[in-house]
Amino acid sequence: MSVFGRKSSRAEDRFEAWLKRMHQERVLSGETEPAGPCPDEAFLRGVARRAKTIPLSDPRIDHAANCANCLNRILAMRQDIRAERRKLAFGVAAACLVVIAGVAGWSRYEMHHRQTMASVAPVSATVDLWNTGTYRGEQPGELQSVLLPSAPVRLTIILPRFSSPGQYLVAVTRDQSGNGVIAEGLASATASNGQERVSLDLDLRSAKTGSYFLSTTHEQDQAAYYYPLHIEDRTSK
Ligand SMILES: [Zn+2]
Repeated sequence: MSVFGRKSSRAEDRFEAWLKRMHQERVLSGETEPAGPCPDEAFLRGVARRAKTIPLSDPRIDHAANCANCLNRILAMRQDIRAERRKLAFGVAAACLVVIAGVAGWSRYEMHHRQTMASVAPVSATVDLWNTGTYRGEQPGELQSVLLPSAPVRLTIILPRFSSPGQYLVAVTRDQSGNGVIAEGLASATASNGQERVSLDLDLRSAKTGSYFLSTTHEQDQAAYYYPLHIEDRTSK
């Protein structure tokens, strides 16, 4: 607040600062005559800290304002206090930044983790080829509504009757010639209940809704068998 009233303009602030400086110069050069003895260090520190417990009517304030020694002490203390406050403010700001960075990092990790979990958790699906033709050259029977989602799929294929044990290459392709591979993987057949099965993860996220082919190729046979397949992209509606 200004001595000129509630509203203080920049010119008034400058004038006040000038008055203060002129007064300080006079005091520090010993032109003023302070009344009474110098107050103790604790009092001067209180003045430097602008302690509200010290009333402006206190005669020691009048003394300090006109004593070169006291004013010098107060100015030095004020400088220390300002440096301390700057350090403290810097420390608090740094601590805040660390906390903000930590929170941001954690939430980003959390979000990424959740997205990854949501997008990667595979959908289990079983395709039963048991009753489809196994003889080379024979058209495979139409699959009964084999529908896979456009998602990571944990696929179990029950291989056609009389299938050989061993390793199989499983692929999802655009056409019946093996072009436009959407996903593929190798899996070893395991026998259970007299049926050969292969299980593998196929990532079908890149497939749009439409007709595809599921192919199986035995490692020693090299002939691929194709089965019609429908993929549904449930995310785009
Ligand atoms: Zn003094």
